Amino acid sequence: MFWTRAYGYFTAEPTAFIAFVLGISAAIMALFTFFSAKYVTKPTLIFFILVAAVSSWFNDQFGVTIDKEMIRNAAVSTGAEAGHLITPRFAMHVLLTGILPSLVIIWVRIVHRPILWKLVHNTAVILACVAVFIVAGTSYYKTFAGVGRAHRDLMDTLNPVMPITSAVRYVIDSQRNANVVAAPLGTDAHRVGAVDNGKPRVTIIVAGETARAQNFSLGGYGRPTNPELAKQNVVYFPDTTSCGTATATSIPCLFSVYTRAQYSHRKGLETQNLLDVLTHAKVDVTWLDNDTGSYNVTDRVSYTYLPTSADPRFCKDGECLDAILVDKVDNWLDHIKGDSVLVLHQLGSHGPAYYQRYPEEFRRFTPDCRANDFGKCSQEEINNAYDNTILYTDHIVSTVIDKLKQRSGSISGAVMYFSDHGESLGENGIYLHGTPYMIAPPEQIHVPFLVWMADDLAKTAGYDMVCVAKQASAGSHSHDNIFHSVLGMMDVATKVYDPSLDVFSACRRSANKLAQAN
Ligand SMILES: [Zn+2]
Repeated sequence: MFWTRAYGYFTAEPTAFIAFVLGISAAIMALFTFFSAKYVTKPTLIFFILVAAVSSWFNDQFGVTIDKEMIRNAAVSTGAEAGHLITPRFAMHVLLTGILPSLVIIWVRIVHRPILWKLVHNTAVILACVAVFIVAGTSYYKTFAGVGRAHRDLMDTLNPVMPITSAVRYVIDSQRNANVVAAPLGTDAHRVGAVDNGKPRVTIIVAGETARAQNFSLGGYGRPTNPELAKQNVVYFPDTTSCGTATATSIPCLFSVYTRAQYSHRKGLETQNLLDVLTHAKVDVTWLDNDTGSYNVTDRVSYTYLPTSADPRFCKDGECLDAILVDKVDNWLDHIKGDSVLVLHQLGSHGPAYYQRYPEEFRRFTPDCRANDFGKCSQEEINNAYDNTILYTDHIVSTVIDKLKQRSGSISGAVMYFSDHGESLGENGIYLHGTPYMIAPPEQIHVPFLVWMADDLAKTAGYDMVCVAKQASAGSHSHDNIFHSVLGMMDVATKVYDPSLDVFSACRRSANKLAQAN
């Protein structure tokens, strides 16, 4: 993949491509020579080959880049998730390109020169390689710099150098972040405004997984993937972008006070988040997880990881249908004592095993891909399976709304749904997600976002929902809006609240408007 890409980028200057090949080969040769010594050569070569075999599979099959964020995803993914990626074709690929060459290396006898002579010889080889690298590099420096700047993705596919450096960077990162204590945020937070006729204010946030906006019929998709939500009185924000292209980035980012431009993994860990601010305002916060965890967002609030329950009604092989979340909502609602926020973290459309995300009743777009291995399915089957996951999410979110509607006499309820990132379904040969944000295709960052609010809540809290709907379809929105909009919905005043990022702020009666306190 690296060489094909490079060849494509250098079409204008074939001699530059030759210099590029020479330069990179010399650099790799120098690297291997560096590790050439008794007891070191063979294990090093085998390690390089195995890493290359595994990562080339993901490079070539899914167009996945093995960068630091991708290593983070792999490190935090659950066993069940990883299991879906280990398919017979994957095993075959690793056997042919990794294990067989490794056996050859073990079998070959390497005659090592006496140590001193070897040191001289290897140094000479390395110096020669470095010289070739420098000459090749400087002779076409302008071309290389131009291509490098225009195609930052190129070096990302250099195998196995990229995956290894990424893993090293990830380990260094996690060491540095191991003992970070989150600094307090929004400790001045408090609830304001009239209490809703004595009813507790309840917001249920459905944090979606891998749902892309392109496949939401609420946003104009040609297939009826949102039949139930279409009948609910929801406001849909058709132009919304995510903070990251992977759960491990998006979830901590969107619950943080930072915008995408300001956010970093480290800053996310160093600062309390939306859930903490709500807690400071004496809002009760609960997180029910059916996904891969909360990425430290819930370190200081009530958290339950549902797949460990292995409830036979919903779960199989360590994963559960999202119905397990809905199943818990009634009990939670029965026990609320006051203003509360419930986060339901969905498994949603998590691939590649889309077909395991929905029950038989939601297998409506057929034929659907029933394999973990996209190579076994047609594009149509993959799309059908994916659309069924959206159809099921439509049902889950709509059911949550219904549960709040049923209790409108005793609760002032609202629901917010958004996805953490999108998904590539084969566009330009890319599948799944996790592409570096800068070069990510729109399918991975354009996410669905919607809000439902009980009529009496909208009325007493002074929301003009017609205005909200107009705002929603007129402008662009993003995960940057979530933090401030939830504070707005819960009427929580604090100096960290920014009304300009609250999607409702412009559509509230001025008497009910939350201001940024000083
Ligand atoms: Zn995700």
